[in-house]
Amino acid sequence: MTEPATLATSDLVDLLAAVCDIESVSGDEAALADAVEALLADQPHLEVTRDGDAVVARTLLGRDRRVVLAGHLDTVPLTDPPNLPTRLEGTGDDRVLWGRGTVDMKAGIAVMLALAVELGRPGSEPAVDLTYVFYDHEEVEATKSGLGRLVRNRPELLTGDFAVLGEPTSADIEGGCQGTIRVDVRTRGVAAHSARSWRGENAIHAAAPILARLTAYEPAEVEVDGLRYREGVNAVGIRGGIAGNVVPDECTVTVNYRFAPSRDLAEAEAHLRDLFDGYEVTVTDASPAARPGLDDPLAAEFVAAVLELTGGEPKPKFGWTDVARFAELGIPAVNFAPGDPSLAHADDERVPVRELGVCRDALRTWLRGA
Ligand SMILES: [Zn+2]
Repeated sequence: MTEPATLATSDLVDLLAAVCDIESVSGDEAALADAVEALLADQPHLEVTRDGDAVVARTLLGRDRRVVLAGHLDTVPLTDPPNLPTRLEGTGDDRVLWGRGTVDMKAGIAVMLALAVELGRPGSEPAVDLTYVFYDHEEVEATKSGLGRLVRNRPELLTGDFAVLGEPTSADIEGGCQGTIRVDVRTRGVAAHSARSWRGENAIHAAAPILARLTAYEPAEVEVDGLRYREGVNAVGIRGGIAGNVVPDECTVTVNYRFAPSRDLAEAEAHLRDLFDGYEVTVTDASPAARPGLDDPLAAEFVAAVLELTGGEPKPKFGWTDVARFAELGIPAVNFAPGDPSLAHADDERVPVRELGVCRDALRTWLRGA
């Protein structure tokens, strides 16, 4: 029998390599979850709970504020030939660790594990209570999400005042996320043989003003908690017509609106109904945006601690991440971790070792002094 893999090491780069070298393609997270659970269960300052292949560890120091650090354990599949085990290249501060998961998002996981072990030891107490959430099934359909399951099964474990999600951001702060809503805008006409078209009304021709409104639309740039989000309203599909000799009696334009967190879902829908006033509008799909929450004092201290080390300004997150699940729980959340987000899922995933230290140090300074 092989020994279960261990994550017991005090070196952050070794820890990341160990976390990556335990393969954890979605659905196969058990071995890594076992290793994470074993490491955390060894820490007397943490209360550890296992739910499926998710592991939650909490400090119970009686502080009046609680920060949640969260990240998924799974990765997308390996390449062929496999991009594991990891390999380290370069020297000193210029070292780079290559391999599946180094960016998305085991660098964030390694930083969280290092802090979980360190913060709470005598002489290294955090100023807030801490909850670490390691979960399964993020890189697959949303219905399988381990974080979604925790929200349903154990919501009491996820309470907090602010959350940091360890998705890659190149050690920048990326706040909140945009929302998305899809609608069908429909025109009706009267079908007729195209040889006697004066008897019909053409629904596709009737859609021309819909396209004109989209062409003339000027998307907003909206500032939320100091971050500028760029919106967009786009036709992403159009359907109409049943045969080459029939005047169509129906035409549907599918429109996708990516909106800033200044609007909730109802307001986003109302905006589209306004834009397409006079037409039949049906919502087919919607996910809310998440506010960056950077107006919260806890967040302001976080931003200050990160800027001290990196000098970079917080940015908005374009696209949707699990920060929206925290927003739905009423917890403002940001993305912050090592690794270039454009390398997530890439065959040549790799992370600069320097960013690991920057993220750990910024989080440590903030959590000890906040
Ligand atoms: Zn990810």
